[in-house]
Amino acid sequence: MIAILLGPPGAGKGTYSGKLIDIYKVPQISTGDILRANVKEGTELGKKAKGFMDKGALVPDSLIVDLIEDRIKADDCRNGFLLDGFPRTVEQADALEGIFNKKGLKLDRVINIIVERDVLFKRLTGRRMCKVCGGNFNIYTLPPKVDGVCDKCGGELYQRNDDKPETIENRLNVYEKQTSPLIEYYRKKNVLSDIDASKGAIDDIVKMITGVLGKK
Ligand code: AMP
Repeated sequence: MIAILLGPPGAGKGTYSGKLIDIYKVPQISTGDILRANVKEGTELGKKAKGFMDKGALVPDSLIVDLIEDRIKADDCRNGFLLDGFPRTVEQADALEGIFNKKGLKLDRVINIIVERDVLFKRLTGRRMCKVCGGNFNIYTLPPKVDGVCDKCGGELYQRNDDKPETIENRLNVYEKQTSPLIEYYRKKNVLSDIDASKGAIDDIVKMITGVLGKK
């Protein structure tokens, strides 16, 4: 199963991916997670990406496309994968199509997660991540059992630099301008399904997504 989760920052792509990878037994490929790991390790890529990420801007396509091409070559991707946060521009989507054509891979579905803007804002300001395992929590909607501590590994929770209110506004605008054209791009290719995720528990939304993806 090869699928893309499309949606604005705060739509829950990471949360739903975390559940979907257990169901479909394929890896989640989050370009945001890969970039954050590179920033943390101080790699060349991390150094180049950090400034863009802190502002809430997109990292240049040239830095992202090779990274994805490399990642999907890995052995754990042989039964498919779930892309979370990639592609984010029409140029990235075109490049992805080129990679798929070259490798004989077929995109099964793009899930377009729709969430109202004020809900997104609240989710993003409430989001906390684990410093150790990258686990996702939310002080409003998915609080950890112990304040500031990861339920899964006991690591310390922190607020991402780009989840501060001043940066969130910019990230939502960047999504509207640069990423939302992908909705029509994939709709025209007849691979897009809309999922309204403004209301409903996480497991209900996951059920809606598996209803669309089917059994694979
Ligand atoms: P995310 O965790 O998906 O919200 O990504 C965090 C940040 O990483 C974004 O605001 C961008 O700066 C950068 N980023 C992640 N994925 C991409 C991508 N596909 N293209 C460009 N920049 C990206």
